[in-house]
Formats: sequence, structure tokens, C-alpha cells
Amino acid sequence: MAILVCGGAGYIGSHINKQLYEAGYETVVFDNLIYGHKESVKWGHFEKGDLGNIEDIDRVFQKYAIEAVFHFAAYAYVGESVTEPEKYYYNNVANTLNLLKVMRKYGCNKIIFSSTCATYGEPEKVPITEDMNQNPINPYGASKLMVERIFKDYRTAYNLKFVVLRYFNAAGADPEGQIGESHDPETHLIPLVLDAASGKREAIKVFGTDYDTSDGSCIRDYIHVYDLATAHLQALYYLERGGKSEFFNLGNELGTSVLEVIDSVKRITGREFKVILTDRRPGDPAKLVGSSLKARKTLNWEPIYGDIDTIVEHAWRWHEKAEY
Ligand code: UDP
Repeated sequence: MAILVCGGAGYIGSHINKQLYEAGYETVVFDNLIYGHKESVKWGHFEKGDLGNIEDIDRVFQKYAIEAVFHFAAYAYVGESVTEPEKYYYNNVANTLNLLKVMRKYGCNKIIFSSTCATYGEPEKVPITEDMNQNPINPYGASKLMVERIFKDYRTAYNLKFVVLRYFNAAGADPEGQIGESHDPETHLIPLVLDAASGKREAIKVFGTDYDTSDGSCIRDYIHVYDLATAHLQALYYLERGGKSEFFNLGNELGTSVLEVIDSVKRITGREFKVILTDRRPGDPAKLVGSSLKARKTLNWEPIYGDIDTIVEHAWRWHEKAEY
């Protein structure tokens, strides 16, 4: 039996692919390589294909006996989702329906899905717990929430077994330095600050210093991608032992401000660079911190790299030698 990793050439998917392989699973990475990197697929089989094309998915299910699916394949640029919602609803929602259709055809009913804290929108309070209202404020978050809803309906009608994992801010890189974060265009804070430290960018802009937070900049919950990956493995074990379909937050429960991230990068890299304090970025909530208590209790999961300096150190190690 094999595990299908849709979007396994991407940042988060490639780290899960590595851990699945090391845990002894046969993996099949399925990726259209629009944003993914073939170089990140260092473990398991690789099948190039697109979830928009049912025949591509069917071919993979015909070739391998797929026991469970990890689904990371999605567009994830919040700003772009506002200007091009069609792209997001087709790719993130309609293409997931294609995947579910083929899974049903082949009798595969286990799926682990990457959702997001963006499904909560502007939270009423922090830390955010899974039972809080979900009111996404952009099409990206809405597209992920729609898939969550589809899963519930498929659970009722077709016995789908799922684990939905709502990520906070994925960060860092493989502690062994084999894979890491590489987006084009890059919009995420940590890689951008590292670019400033390495001289690839002239400066880092801080979007807003007048928030109601300790130092005025936005607070986020940065979770090491290695810890995200261990949670996925635990989620698979959970489904394998008959666990019921569930939704879990994945964060490390520590809020870190933009200015604290910049300080950490300066400490770890020993480099000085220009920091420009500028206006807020539209749509940014002041503070997003999640409670991961439910995942820790139910999935027997414990993040081990919660410290921002460790996250930055691993990201920097990758960033310095990354060729893509
Ligand atoms: N941010 C920033 N400058 C940048 C990029 C991001 O100040 O060049 C801030 C952004 O406003 C947010 C935090 O860093 O408060 C994390 O942003 P990112 O895009 O990495 O993740 P998001 O929280 O939007 O998913």
C-alpha cells in the first residue's frame, strides 16, 4: 500500500514526504510543479500531474494501491486570491472534488488535508481554538473552509475519514538541511528577512507598527515545518487506528512579533540590514495565535522546535545554500 502526497514537491508537502518515507511508508508524490520543485522530491515515487485533470489522478490510482492521501496541492497567496478568486476556487475547491471523486472510485477513504488559520478570519480572541467561529476574510481562507465543509458532507454520505489540520505560520526548514522553503514570488516574512540579511534584498519592510500589541507590530504563531510534519504522521496513525474525522489547529502557541523575528534573524545571522517601518498591509489581523491543545492530546503530538531562534537558524542554514 502506498501514500499519495498531492503537492508533495512544495514546501510543506516535501517535509511530510520525507518523514513518511523515514517512517517506512511507500510514498507517491503527485505535483504539477507550477510552484513545487522537482529537487524537493528526494524520497518515494514522483508522478507529474494536475488535480484539474481527472485522468492524471486516475492514472496514479491505477498504478499504485493508495491507502491514504495527504493533500497539500493549493494556491496560497492571500493577496492574489482577492484579485483572482476564480483561480483559487477552481484550484483549491473544484480540483479537490476531482481528487475525492477518484478516491471514491478506488475505495480510498482516508485524507489528511492542509487547512489554515485563515479560515478563522479576524479572531474574536486568542489563542484560537477549533470551536471558534470561522469567518474567512479572503478567498484563500474561504476556499479552504469550503473544502472543510465538503469533507463533512462526504463523511456523512460516503464515509470519508479525514483529518483537517489548520496551520498557523509554517516556518523553518528541514533540520538536516535537505529541503526548505522556496517560493517565487516570496511573500513570507522569515525568508524575506533572510533575503535582507544575505543582501538579496535591500531591506525588510515592517507592515504596521501601530497595532495593539506589545511592540506595535503584528504577532503570529510560527510553527516549525518539521513539527508540522510530525503532526501529519501522527494524524495518519490516528486514522489508521480508527480515529474519527476531526479538525485540529497546528501552531506552537507562542506569539512572536514581526520585530522579534527581525531581531532573531539579526542574532542568528550576525548580519545588519535595513528595516523600513511602513504602513499596515490590508487584511492583516493584529494577532493570530492558536491553541494546539487538541492536537497534542488527541494525536499525541508535541512540537519540539518552538523557539523562534531555532526556526530561524534552520531556515538560514537552508537559505544560505539553497539552489532553488
Ligand atoms: N510582514 C512584514 N513584512 C513583510 C512580510 C510580512 O511585516 O515583508 C508581516 C505581515 O504583515 C504579517 C507577518 O509579517 O504580520 C507574517 O506575514 P506572512 O506573509 O509571513 O504570513 P501571514 O501571517 O500573512 O500568513
